[in-house]
Amino acid sequence: MAKKWVYLYEEGSKDMKDLLGGKGANLAEMANIGLPVPPGFTITTEACIEYYKAGKQFPEGMWDQTLEALKVIEKRAGKTFGDPENPLLVSVRSGAKISMPGMMDTVLNVGLNDETVKGMIKLTNNPRFVYDAYRRLIQMFGKIVLGVDAEKFEAVIERRKEEKGVEADTELTAEDWKDIAEEFKAIIKRETGREFPQDPYEQLRLATRAVFESWNTERAVAYREYHHIPHDLGTAVNIVTMVFGNMGFDSGTGVAFTRDPATGEKRLFGDYLLNAQGEDVVAGIRTPRKIEEMKYELPQVYEEFVRICELLERHYRDVQDTEFTIERGKLWMLQTRTGKRTAQAAVKIAVDMVEEGLISKEEAVMRIDPAQMERLLHPSIHYRTQFVELDEVNQPLTPFIGPEEKFIVLSNGVLTTIPHQEWTNLTTDEEREKWLSKLNFIVMARGVDASPGAATGAVVLDSKRAKELADGGMKVILVRPETNPDDVPGMLASQGILTARGGKTSHAAVVARGVGKPCVVGCEAIKMDLEARRFYINEVEVKEGDIISIDGATGQVMPGVMPLIEPRMTPEMEKLLSYADEFRRLGVWTNADNPEDAKKARDFGAEGIGLCRTEHMFFGDVRRPLVQAMIMAETSEERKAYLDKLLPFQREDFEGIFRVMDGLPVIIRLIDPPMHEFLPPYEDLVKEVMELRYKGGDPEELAEKERMLGVVERMREINPMMGLRGCRTGVTFPEVSEMQVRAIFEAACNVAKEGVDVHPEIMIPLTSHVNELKAERERLEKVAKQVMEEKGIKVDYKFGTMIETPRAAIIADQLARYSDFFSFGTNDLTQMTFGFSRDDMEGKFLAPYLERGILEENPFATLDVEGVGELVEMGVKRGRSVKPELEIGICGEHGGDPKSIKFCHKVGLNYVSCSPPRVPIARLAAAQAALSTDR
Ligand code: PEP
Ligand code: MG
Repeated sequence: MAKKWVYLYEEGSKDMKDLLGGKGANLAEMANIGLPVPPGFTITTEACIEYYKAGKQFPEGMWDQTLEALKVIEKRAGKTFGDPENPLLVSVRSGAKISMPGMMDTVLNVGLNDETVKGMIKLTNNPRFVYDAYRRLIQMFGKIVLGVDAEKFEAVIERRKEEKGVEADTELTAEDWKDIAEEFKAIIKRETGREFPQDPYEQLRLATRAVFESWNTERAVAYREYHHIPHDLGTAVNIVTMVFGNMGFDSGTGVAFTRDPATGEKRLFGDYLLNAQGEDVVAGIRTPRKIEEMKYELPQVYEEFVRICELLERHYRDVQDTEFTIERGKLWMLQTRTGKRTAQAAVKIAVDMVEEGLISKEEAVMRIDPAQMERLLHPSIHYRTQFVELDEVNQPLTPFIGPEEKFIVLSNGVLTTIPHQEWTNLTTDEEREKWLSKLNFIVMARGVDASPGAATGAVVLDSKRAKELADGGMKVILVRPETNPDDVPGMLASQGILTARGGKTSHAAVVARGVGKPCVVGCEAIKMDLEARRFYINEVEVKEGDIISIDGATGQVMPGVMPLIEPRMTPEMEKLLSYADEFRRLGVWTNADNPEDAKKARDFGAEGIGLCRTEHMFFGDVRRPLVQAMIMAETSEERKAYLDKLLPFQREDFEGIFRVMDGLPVIIRLIDPPMHEFLPPYEDLVKEVMELRYKGGDPEELAEKERMLGVVERMREINPMMGLRGCRTGVTFPEVSEMQVRAIFEAACNVAKEGVDVHPEIMIPLTSHVNELKAERERLEKVAKQVMEEKGIKVDYKFGTMIETPRAAIIADQLARYSDFFSFGTNDLTQMTFGFSRDDMEGKFLAPYLERGILEENPFATLDVEGVGELVEMGVKRGRSVKPELEIGICGEHGGDPKSIKFCHKVGLNYVSCSPPRVPIARLAAAQAALSTDR
């Protein structure tokens, strides 16, 4: 017996995508849950594979099975294939396991010929529609099956319209289409030497073969190469009864989402057109109506549609994006798939569906991509309802049509919005032009969405000037052909970065993501004219100083000021995160150095401070000179005197933080960076001293500068990141860390007296030898105890260390004896494990490393599990072998990265600590880590 090559709907299901392709499996599923799907069947992907194996022959038995299935659908449709009285027409569509939009072929209206056309006219009483359908079949058949140049057909239609003096296809009559159909047949005869086949079975056979062939067209192969889709999957062929939405005003066609994909609101959302075919909706010649209006135009159909949408959501347990056709009052569902949605809608839909009992809290948490959440937490552009989602190749996906506004694609491909109601009121081109000219924005160009967030500012074309203007208080956007490390200061000073060239791993993209700046790269439409300090986008000139806006989440570039929406937590986000909190085992703490950031993080749900970098407290107009004087002090007494002056400032900072973090742990790290960072750069000092010497400046000033230069010269190091920093500073200048500990405990005791519940944890950085830690802890704990005695109050405290060097991870058991907690400083640990400079690597050689696949990811953004992760795991195991209850966290940048968070969960850390805006992302990622690894 021959193998089974053909499946009726009832023989398939949604789980049979491998065999039936996505579309076939979907149609089967829809039919099986009781939806009105036009009768049809599917020829399997295996048949396609076999077709190629057998040297482009239908496999044995396939055609017979096809004819049998055709008999079944004839019965279901109540029509007969090739019957001149009541003909069945079918579509022959491709459909692979993985969607390859537009890459393969479809032939519609198969079954029409000179005889059945007459029958159809009798049946529909609409010769214009029938001849139009017939010429479409001949045209598609000629092009797809017989390989005739498409232009040849188009030229005939164009010529006819010219002769008749009309512009739109819709203005052509039945007679026109009849003549055109004849001309098309003649073209086929002339170009291929054969007649357009009148035998419907011959049409079906050739169309099926053409769909198999379309699996291996050049563009389909290229698409698969690009998307890493295997070439041996094959395509299925779906043969489905044609239904027509253009059979009069009780017919129509439309697309609808089961919920609003822009906001997530629970209401049907979409458009339809009466007496129209799918392409009329897309072509925008007629303005579609909102789906709600169908309630009045076709109430029964609307009611059924509502019922179907509910059924769909209950069955698929997610929002569906549907296509439907109404043929003479009968609703047919053509397609349903998971609806794309905005990040905001995704969160709302997930939460609503939990409350409606459709999905579990676990599912809701797993459905939200932390990257989507991240987008909601950056400034974004207030587009009202306009937005475009881009697919992997940066093509806009189906533009969503908002409730108030409608997408219009202008002829130059620029996207813009206009209120729906107003648009419908505009009937002539002039009126529409006029409206467009007063739009508040237009998207000028589109590049690669390199770093999320949106920004508005004045265009500046070089980094130096960008920095100068920004320092002067101006908001600027740096626009460059591409960037290099010299541009970094300007990039940091700008609101956002736009480049004409480069991809997601270009220098600009990497740096911008690292610092959280909005960035659009590879905006190829930009033509630079740096000499004249301007650029062009298409024909539009943009001069330096002109205001533009960029959206790093979509890659769009717009002229003028765009209203920005500051990120905020919506009630739905709060709810989703509260679900997440039920599942996660990792704590989520934050890196914050001041009360404002601490407050923001706490509002986002942070459960402690995992890293307070105290060096930031040494900057500022008043403090910096004191710090410099302290560093330059020649004796310990002199140094102490300056430190005493600094102490009140630090104490005040700590008090503020403790108050905000009432009841929660606060890890304060003692001073870490190389001391010379607080002094002016060596080169600047040399220049100033030279000038004073040779121009004869103030002798006192000269003496002071010379003294400072002497200190800087002495402190200069070849490798400052491996030099006098971290706990080495405390060992070398004990007064500094003693002052800090005193300030911390004075602050803690003071606020404790106010009734604040304080939990300071003193963190000693960059330990590599146990004796460093032992000496520092013993010395500093004495200070702590002394302060508490002086203040007459005891506070709960801890001393611990950072694990930031490979050696520290290796001797973690020794360190644990002197630590109440560990915190992995994975920024330094990555630097020291790879031997990659954390300040230079991304600008210097990350891009080629990523491009050539040497590294898969930036190890400073996503933890290198294999190497650095191994050290982390070792540190955890060895530390806990001595102290099973040792509190362990991570405070490097990786603490806010979802992939790295998953790793932290796996190795049993107690918490991750990240920057305040990433706290919600970390809560979600921690829950997903728990749900995906523990079950
Ligand atoms: C680290 O090294 O991971 C860390 C958190 O410290 P810093 O980035 O301040 O060196
Ligand atoms: Mg560090």
